[in-house]
Amino acid sequence: MQMFENRSSDVEGLPVRRALPLRKRRTVGAWCFADIMGPATVTDDFGLGVGPHPHTGLHTVTWLFDGEEIHNDSLGSEQAIRPGQLNLMTAGRGIAHSEDSQAYRGNLSGIQLWVAQPESTRFGDSAFLHVPEVPQVELDNGEASLLIGDWGSTSSPATLDSELFGAELNLLPGRHTIELNERYEYAVIPIDQALAINGEPIAANSIAVLEPGESSVDLEVRDRGRTMLLGGPPFGEQILMWWNFVARTPEEVIQAVDDWNEPQDDRYGEVSSRLARISAPQWEF
Ligand code: MN
Repeated sequence: MQMFENRSSDVEGLPVRRALPLRKRRTVGAWCFADIMGPATVTDDFGLGVGPHPHTGLHTVTWLFDGEEIHNDSLGSEQAIRPGQLNLMTAGRGIAHSEDSQAYRGNLSGIQLWVAQPESTRFGDSAFLHVPEVPQVELDNGEASLLIGDWGSTSSPATLDSELFGAELNLLPGRHTIELNERYEYAVIPIDQALAINGEPIAANSIAVLEPGESSVDLEVRDRGRTMLLGGPPFGEQILMWWNFVARTPEEVIQAVDDWNEPQDDRYGEVSSRLARISAPQWEF
C-alpha cells in the first residue's frame, strides 16, 4: 500500500483537492482523474461555473455529496444532478459540456472522476447517462452507494467500457472489513473522516493505493463520514493526459486542441450554456 497527498487546485475558482493522477501513478484501474470539489458555499457571486469545454477518450463520472448543478452537453442533454444521482458522460472521439450551479444556493461538494477509455472504444460515439438513484448496499456498520460495478449481488446500472468499481462508503465509527476483488487494484480516498487502512492511519487529504492480490481491506473509522473506494483491473495502456483530453500521443493532443480552438468540422458539437467557451491551452513539449 502506498499513500500520496492530494494536491490543492481550483476549477474556475472553485477549490478542489486533486487525488489523481499522481506523478508516480497515472491510473488505478481505468480511473485516471479524481477531483474532490469543495466544500464551498454557492452564493449570488460565487459558484461552480465551468463553461463549454471538450473531452476525448474518457468517461466523466460526476457524484455530489451536497448541492446541485446542471450539466449541458453537445448531445443536447440538460440534466440537473443532486446527491444520490450519477452523471456518466462518454467522450469517445469528442464531446463538449458545461457545468453550472447558477440555479442553486447553499453548500456544494462532490467528486469529479474520469475513466480512461480503452483503445477499442476511445474513438467511438459520445453518450450521456443520468442515473436518478444508484443502488445502496447495507454494510454491518454503515452503508455504501454503488456508483459503478458490482458489489455482491448488487449491480450499478452505469456500465462502462472496462471492468470497474466505484462506491461511496458511509462508515460508522468502528472497524470494517470490506471485501475486495483480488484481480483489482484500489484507491481509498477519505473525504471527511479520519481513517486507518489495515492499521495504518491515512493523513487527511491523501489517497491510498492498494495493489492487486488482496481479498479484503480493514478500515477503522473514528468519526462518521464518507470515504470513496475506487478499483479495477490494472488498465494496461499508457495514456497521455493533457488538459481535458485522454490520448496516447502528442500528435493526438495537438489535433484535439486544434479541433476545439479552430474547428474545421463538428468533432465536439455545440453546447447551450450562459457561460463562455473555454479555450484549450496549446500542448507544451
Ligand atoms: Mn468536463
